This record gives sequence, structure tokens and C-alpha cells, in this order.
Amino acid sequence: MTDTHCPYCSLQCGMRLTGRRAPEVGEWPEFPVNRGALCRKGWSAAGLYGGRERLTTPLVRDRATGELSPVTWDEALDLVAGRLAALRAERGPDSVAVFGGGGLTNEKAYQLGKLARVALGTSQIDYNGRWCMSSAASAGTRAFGIDRGLPFPLADVEQADVVVLVGSNLAETMPPAARHLDALRARGGKVVVVDPRRTPTANRADVVVQPVPGSDLALALGVLHLLVAGGKVDEEYVAARTTGWDEVRESVAGWWPERVERVTGVPADEVRSLADLLGGAATVMVLTARGAEQHSTGSDTVLAWINVALALGMPGTPGAGYGCLTGQGNGQGGREHGQKADQLPGYRMIDDPAARAHVAGVWGVDPDSLPGKGRSAYELLDALGQPDGPSALLVLGSNIVVSAPRATHVRQRLESLDLLVVADMVLSETAALADVVLPVTQWAEETGTMTNLEGRVILRQRAITPPAGVRSDLDVIAGLASRLGSPVEFATDPETVFEELGRASAGGKADYAGITYDRIRAEHGVFWPCPGPEHPGTPRMFLDSFAHPDGRARFHVVDHRGPAEVPCDDYPVHLTTGRVLAQYQSGAQTRRVRDLPDTGPFVELHPMLAGRIGATDGEPVTVATRRGTMTAPARVVATIRPDTVFVPFHWVGANRLTNDALDPASRMPEFKVCAAAVSA
Ligand code: SF4
Repeated sequence: MTDTHCPYCSLQCGMRLTGRRAPEVGEWPEFPVNRGALCRKGWSAAGLYGGRERLTTPLVRDRATGELSPVTWDEALDLVAGRLAALRAERGPDSVAVFGGGGLTNEKAYQLGKLARVALGTSQIDYNGRWCMSSAASAGTRAFGIDRGLPFPLADVEQADVVVLVGSNLAETMPPAARHLDALRARGGKVVVVDPRRTPTANRADVVVQPVPGSDLALALGVLHLLVAGGKVDEEYVAARTTGWDEVRESVAGWWPERVERVTGVPADEVRSLADLLGGAATVMVLTARGAEQHSTGSDTVLAWINVALALGMPGTPGAGYGCLTGQGNGQGGREHGQKADQLPGYRMIDDPAARAHVAGVWGVDPDSLPGKGRSAYELLDALGQPDGPSALLVLGSNIVVSAPRATHVRQRLESLDLLVVADMVLSETAALADVVLPVTQWAEETGTMTNLEGRVILRQRAITPPAGVRSDLDVIAGLASRLGSPVEFATDPETVFEELGRASAGGKADYAGITYDRIRAEHGVFWPCPGPEHPGTPRMFLDSFAHPDGRARFHVVDHRGPAEVPCDDYPVHLTTGRVLAQYQSGAQTRRVRDLPDTGPFVELHPMLAGRIGATDGEPVTVATRRGTMTAPARVVATIRPDTVFVPFHWVGANRLTNDALDPASRMPEFKVCAAAVSA
């Protein structure tokens, strides 16, 4: 029996696995985050290993025939390293690029960043977490001086008088977390859901606000305007713990409720009721998720909601504050240890000389040998195969073909490469395009740490024996590093890598120096920052001060800009995208689990819109945007705005439609809204 964690989302529910070859999932009631509860994805996770599609040998493509053929590991790694080295010699180190994932363990993310900076010498590394939490990360860093998704344990939700969920469908994306909302309501608290769709989460809320996609920022401006007008600002807190308030107070003066109604579609009286609810509560918690963040204005939207929380005096107050509900399993840790284009381990910035010196010291290399900042995820993919872009790409833990915005264009960029290498456990849509496919272990077959949405570092423990022929990502990275003539060693034992990661993070914002595998086992996870073995970890941040040098949080003036694309005669409705309960991310894993229903994609639309275009429930409709089209069965529901259609993104198609407009601060693409035409 092995205590471990679910392979999917950022809740990282604890579970107990039995059986060495075919694992069985059982409860781990003592693990505090989920207390034994799992969603259907967690209960069926063992099905990941049941399919016949598992890759067990490296594959190499013959470009003349297009066929993938089995080769030995040495042949595959020799080929990859030889071609990467040749390209690097011919076109310079930035001609090779690396793409990681928010599902990789901390150890893999750390080693992948080190591979790029030390063994390949390339600045061209980023990861799909850029498309997940980067707007909240950017806003949190600017407002509080540090970015940790939730700066408090998730269970604190139960203590708030009012919780506002902006763009989160918690009840479907992480159902065990929704029990905290129920507990809050049972003791008389209120739940507010802001979402253009009336989701299952909205069905568990007291107040539901359905703004036009892309207008959450204007709603926050309107709420703050009313808090000021009603004298509900906590002036004492604002004076003692923040800077920048005067400018922000002035900036919201023009956001009266009727103007908010014109922009958001939310009736002015609903905006007033929401402000009254927040202004009258002793403790308010604002939580944002992808619905608010995956916009070209995502980081400003998060800042606008942080302004609301700060004006009410909530961040740093027990049972209150602001937090981001991260999405991918290691969405938090994945952005802390070096696979992001601008970062080094410990959430250090790569252009900070002191950070470079520290990390280079741990790695045993000259700080001047480390490359600088590279392109963000979408910009990196957009540059592939271009004259000044990379011509080789190594992908770990990401199914880009399904998950990237403007996916047809991204697929063309991947096809233009001289060399595409993908490590995965199955032939995902991206692996199917690769020149070299490397079969790797996943989840219960290996050990490694993840950092959940609370900043709690947890340990996934190996529970089953992997099939013959597969290797871990850590083996792949070390094998490539040595063949590339790396000047330093790359460990393959996860605990050894974690110890090195701890040293590299020491003194950084995300300081893991005091965390060990033994402590994680004994304490049900350890919250960072944890700078030394005697330090208890930090479940709650900001109680006394924020992470800016003066200890104060920052208000930021932000304004409504709206989405990059608005409806017009040719594309008259809003398209938004999201998730469903039974699938996870690109579906590369969950679509292969037999016990999970694979409905395929669908198009959700309101009966009024369906009537206008002559669509019938269950019959095909086509959605078109300026970037592509997809056809899928209609789901006619009254729970969505009549001016909006929704498509889940777990299948090929949705991201052919989405817009690659980027947030200027976070470089987050605008997955959540674009202009579309829908026809029966
Ligand atoms: S998918 Fe998320 S909510 Fe569901 S069991 Fe896994 S970690 Fe828990």
C-alpha cells in the first residue's frame, strides 16, 4: 500500500494505491486537503495503465516514408543529442528549444531548466503553465511581491463570510474542494459566482453574476466604485498596509453601476447588491481562476479584483484575502524552478545578477555562461521554423497540438521543424508529429514532488513497477545532458535532485531549502517558503507584511480594455472555452481511461441562439472564427448567455478557434473569449 496523490489537477488529492502492476485506488482519509474524497477522475486514475496504447520503446520517424519505427534507447538518445549538437554548432544555442509542462514534478521541471541553460545553453525554454496561471502570477507578484496561488490553506475558505469565485467552475474542475463552499454556506456564509455560464458551481452559490465574456475587469471597477461611494473602504488597513490607493480611488470614480451594466451586461442593481454584500461582510475572500485570467487583459483583471480585496482590508486577514485557484497538477511548482523563460529555481529572475550567481554556484558553472530571458510559450511556438526561430524542439509533459491557441498555425510551426522530440507515455497528438518519440514513466511509476494550489509541497511516491522499456524523464534529461557534453552531472534519483533543488532555491522567494522527503511524509506536505530544517513552513502568508521591500501591498490603476476581438457582423457571438468534469486538460490521459465518459466535443448554446440559427440539440453545428472552424453536436442549454457559445477544450478543435492575442504582462493567450459565428 502506498500513500500518493492523484495524477491530475492542482488539488493533488491524497489517495492510497494497492497492487504492484495494476494499481487500485483507495481512500487516504488522513490527508487534509481532500480527507479521502476524490472526483471520478481520481477514482478511475488506475485506468491510465489499462490501455494498449502504452509506448514501451523509443520510435524514430523515417521522413521519406513518414513511418515511426522502434529503435533502442541508445540509438534514440544518440540521434537526438547528435542533431541538437549539430544545430547548435551551425546556428547557435538558441536554435534549439525546450517546452515543458505544468504537470511535471518539481524535480523534472528543475532538471529541464538546467538542461536548457547548462547542457544546451539555450534561452528558448518555456512551458504550458504559461497558459494556465501566468496572469495571476504576474498580478500577485506586482500586488504582493510574491506569487503563491493561495496564500492560505484551502480549508480557510470555510471561515470567510463571503467568497467570490471569479471565473472558477470549482464544482466540476475539482469537486472535493467544493465541500468548503457547502460548509461555508452551512454556517451562514455566502458564495458569489461570476461566470458567463451558469455552471454546477453556480448551482451551489447564493449570488450568480453572468457578465459578458471579457468584462470581469469592468465589474471589479464598478464594485470598487460603489465601495468607495458607500464608505466601505477599510481606511486604517489601506493606510497601514498598502500604497497607491489615492490613484486607484480616483481611477474608479467614473465606473458608476449603469456604465458597468452597459459594458458587462450585468444589471446595475445586481452590481449594487454585490457591492453591498461585500461591503457589509466582516471577511471576504476573492478567488480567481482561468475564466478571469485567460485573457489579453487577464493580469489587469486580477489586479482589479485584488484592488477590491485590498480596499476591504482582506489580504493578510485570517479567513479572508485573495487567491488564485491554480489548474494543472504542478501549476504552482512548475513555475518556481526554472522551466519558465524568465526564471531560475526558487522563483528567481534570470536577469538578476545575484540570482544568476547563486544558481550558477549550485550548478558549478560560470554565471556568465547562463543564457538570458527567452520567448514566452506562445511566442516560442510561433517562432519555430522561422528564420530567427528555433529549428528543433524537445517537448516534455505537454500535448501542444491540442492545448495551444490558434492550434492549426501552431501545428504548422511544429511541422516546419528540423527536429521534433516528444517524451510521453502514449502517442499523443503532438507525439504523433514527432521525429523521435521517447516512452517515459508517469505518475504511480515514479517518485517526485508536486506543489499544490496552496503552496503545499507533497510527495507522489512510486507505487507500481513500470513496464520494461520505459525510462523516467529524469533519465532522458541526464542521458541527453551527458551526450551533449554537459560540464556538470545530472542526477536521476528524484530525492537527490530535490536536495539540489532545495539548495538552488535557498534564499529565493520560493524557498524549499528546509523541505525533505521525510518531512513531507511526516507532515502531510510542507508549505513554502521553508528556509531551513527547523522552519515550520508557511501555511499563511502576509499576516504581518507583504513581500515587497517596504512590507506593503500595492494597489494598481487598471482600466477596462475589453477583449482583443469583439463580435461584429461576420462573427456575431462570443466564444468561450473550458473544461468538463470527466476530462483533464488536453485529454491525452483521461480520454484513454475507459471508465471516464468520452463524449467528444460539443457546442453549448442558448435556446434563443439555437432558435435563431435553426440548431437542434444533439445535431451538428459549426463554429467559425478568424482562425478556423470546428463542427460538433449542439447542446442547447438555458444556463449560458444568449450571446455566447461554449466549447470544451479537451479535444482537437476548440483551440483551432481560440485567439493568440497575448496579455502584455503575463504573455497569456486569450483562450477565454473571441468573436465567432455559429451555424446549424
Ligand atoms: S482530478 Fe483533482 S479533484 Fe479530482 S481527484 Fe484528482 S486531484 Fe482531486
